[in-house]
Order: sequence, then C-alpha cells, then structure tokens
Amino acid sequence: MINEKGKDKCGVFGLWGAPDSAERIYTGLYAQQHRGQESAGIAVSDGAGLRAHVGMGLVSEVFSRSVLDQLTGKAGIGHNRYSTTGSSHAGNAQPLMEGYIGGQVAVAHNGNLINAGLLRDNYEQRGHIFHTSTDTEVIIHLLASHHLSKEDPLTEALQHLQGAYSLVFLFADRIEAVRDPWGWRPLVLGQTEDGHDCVASETVAFDAIGAKFVREVEPGEIITLSDSGVSSRRFADAQRPAQCIFEHVYFANPSSRVFGDTVQIVREKLGRKLAQESPVDADYVVPMPDSGRAAAAGFAAESGIPCREGIIPNRYVGRTFIQPTQKQRSLAVQLKLNAVPEVIADKRIVVVDDSIVRGTTTRTKMHQLRRAGAKEIHLRISCPPVRNPCYFGIDFPDSSQLIAAKRDVEEIREFLEVDSLHFLSLEGMLSCVSRQPEHYCHACFSGDYRLNVAKPVSKLDLEPHQLKMFR
Ligand code: 5GP
Ligand code: MG
Repeated sequence: MINEKGKDKCGVFGLWGAPDSAERIYTGLYAQQHRGQESAGIAVSDGAGLRAHVGMGLVSEVFSRSVLDQLTGKAGIGHNRYSTTGSSHAGNAQPLMEGYIGGQVAVAHNGNLINAGLLRDNYEQRGHIFHTSTDTEVIIHLLASHHLSKEDPLTEALQHLQGAYSLVFLFADRIEAVRDPWGWRPLVLGQTEDGHDCVASETVAFDAIGAKFVREVEPGEIITLSDSGVSSRRFADAQRPAQCIFEHVYFANPSSRVFGDTVQIVREKLGRKLAQESPVDADYVVPMPDSGRAAAAGFAAESGIPCREGIIPNRYVGRTFIQPTQKQRSLAVQLKLNAVPEVIADKRIVVVDDSIVRGTTTRTKMHQLRRAGAKEIHLRISCPPVRNPCYFGIDFPDSSQLIAAKRDVEEIREFLEVDSLHFLSLEGMLSCVSRQPEHYCHACFSGDYRLNVAKPVSKLDLEPHQLKMFR
C-alpha cells in the first residue's frame, strides 16, 4: 500500500540556542524556498514550552514582522512544504505540533514514508485519531506509543519507519535531527558564526544565515542539539545509500553542497556529458531558464558552440508546475518564458533543459521557439527519461502522467515537434557525481526501487510484543 497523500518534497531547518532564532529560521527557510512553495511554518521553544505559526504560501507571505516578533524563543525548527494540489490545505502545513504524554513536540519532515498508510491503519484500529492527511502525523503517534519504553523512545519509534525521511523534532529542551538509514534526502549540520548549532536540508540555508557547514547527518543517525551542545547516536545501521540523484538534476539549489558535491558543478558536468553523448551541429546553445542553465553552460563549453540567452524568464511568475488545470499551466508557461526572435530566428539551436516530466511545459516552450523562427531545434535533456513514479519524496505523478512511461524517445520527439531529442544516459548521469553509482536512488529513471513499495513493512504487524502495547 502506498500513501498517496504525503508525497512531500520539502525543506527543513533547525537552530538551537540563539535568542533571535525565529528570525534566523525565517532567513533559512527563505533560502530553501525552492524546496517547497505551498506552505511554511516555524515552531519555537522558550525552554519550557513550544509555540508555532504555520500558513499557506511563500515564506514571505506566511510571516509578517509581528508574527516573527511573537515567536520568541531560544530555539526552533522550520519547514517549507510542497505537495500535490489535492492535499494542499492549511491543516497539513508543518511543523506539526502536538501535545502528547511526553510533553510537547513539533516535527518537520522532508521525504515520504512508504508504510505510513499501514501504520496509520494499525493505529486507527486501536482507536487513535488523526487530524491531518500527512504521513508525518504517524511519527508522533509512534513517539507517544513508545514513550514509556525504558530505552530511547525516539530510537524505538524510528525502527518502524520505511522510506525517505529527513526529520527535525523540536522538544522544549532539545532538537533531534534524523536522517533515514538510506540517506534519501539531504540533511546537514552547521554552526553559526556566534557558535549556535543548526541543521538544514541544504547548505544554501547556512550561507544565508552566515553559518558554516560542519558535516552531513549520517544515514541512520540522530543528532541532538541542546544547551549541552551537539551529540550523536545511531538508531539503525546505515543501509546501502539511496541518495536521490534528482536532487542534483533539478531539485536542490545550485550553490548547495549535496551528498558531497556542489550542485552547480554536477549540473555543468551533466551538460558536458550530454555534449559528448549527443553532439550536434548548431549555431547556438540556448539554456532553458532557470533549470537548464548550468547544463547548457557545460554543453557549450564541451561542444565549443556559443551559449546565448534566447529565452528570457519573467522572474515574478512562479509555480507553473502546480497550476491545477492544463490550460492555466500552458498560459503560465507563456507568461513565464519569452523567446527573443532576434536571437532565435533562422538559427539552428540546441536547447538544453534539465528534465522532462509530463512533457506539456516543454511542448509549449518548443512551440514558442518555432514561432520565434527557429530553423532547427535540437533538444538535449540532462537526465534520462522519467519513466516511473517517485515514492520517496519527489512529486512525480503516477505513470499515466509521465510522458516517458509509455512513449519511447522518438515518440516524445514527435510530440514535442523538435528536430532531434536526446536524454542523458543513466551511466552518463551517474558518472557526474562523486559517490559510487550504486549509492544513489534513480528509480524514477531505471525502475530500480531500493525498497519494495508494493509491500512496505509495518513492524506493528510483525512484532507481537509491539502489538501488546496498543491493546
Ligand atoms: P514538462 O515538459 O515535463 O511539463 O516540464 C518540464 C520542466 O519542468 C523542466 O524545465 C523542469 O525543469 C521542470 N521540472 C521538473 N521537475 C519539476 C518539479 O518537480 N517541479 C517543478 N516545478 N518543475 C519541475
Ligand atoms: Mg525548468
């Protein structure tokens, strides 16, 4: 069973010990806005209790001066959320704050749990009540259920989770930052110039608050931030890593260091590789703003074909991907990107973009280029065709909406009405990152899922002693 409701690709942030923590978390979330534009939230602790403010929209829309002023505390966590339109409502905004037998807790989650549905069913059968449709809420129920355990309740709760999770918990007296044993999503530890410890999805958030990157949170590790500093413990053995390669292709900020590589540098390499795999005679390389820029620079450098901006973005239009109807989406694309006929007309152009998902945006863009008079359009994509849904935190729709699920490259080329089309090979893509190829998840391209998504495990089912706790 797959939890369809919680396909969240998000950003998380946490900071301990700074009197102006809400202010800095706000800045950190602003820097991570690309990880989710649907809702944002901050929870703070004053050492005795928690307070939170969450809302729909961009960070700048959710927080006003007066709201930030009310979030006084010495520590806090924050969240940027992106989900599909269907499950987009204020009740699902994070951090999720609850009172439970152990006190108050707030949690912010980036990733997707594949067994959340099973766990939730188990709890509901035992009378637990849920009030959001996110998979994150089940984590709080797990924590409450393990509260009386003599061991470490958080460590025990985490044993039940399957899937992708970079989690930041705020308790009155500490922050606990957790990365799943596969390391699907990024999570990094840092320190501010004045010595406060922090965690974030991406290093770009540290840059924004003047903090330095210390290290990655290890897969299977819990890092505690508190008045006694930073401490670490393991809750699971690290598994063979399944770091999401799409973070490098599209999702993360180019200036971030993700899984040991700087994203911009990886993307330039992807573009170089693309030029090696599919050279073409052309007048200009034209980047598709903004996602194709770095790869286009790499393609131009490798091929020797000059790079020219022939498509100008309107930077005030955002979020085309989540417009509810196809018509609205197409109109937004036309507004967002404007072709420059004086650059394009009568030219053979190589257009470089990062990915094709549904194909609909790309088709509109290609038509614009034709209208601007392009003589030949050679489209180059810096990752392989996306053929499979993601169950680990990237919002790739079900196969019916993925253009590459049922069409081969030639059929996609016909649909897009371009002269030639090439997608980077899987091997080519994996040669551009520094860690071993088998340490990345590329299931969206290859179908090679690290966990069996059709049969997720609910440990509540499997372990009788666990069941007893809920009777
Ligand atoms: P399509 O032609 O598939 O409709 O759109 C392709 C464009 O969508 C590419 O330029 C790519 O950068 C962008 N894209 C890929 N994945 C995502 C995503 O998860 N969210 C958003 N907003 N855009 C995406
Ligand atoms: Mg794009």
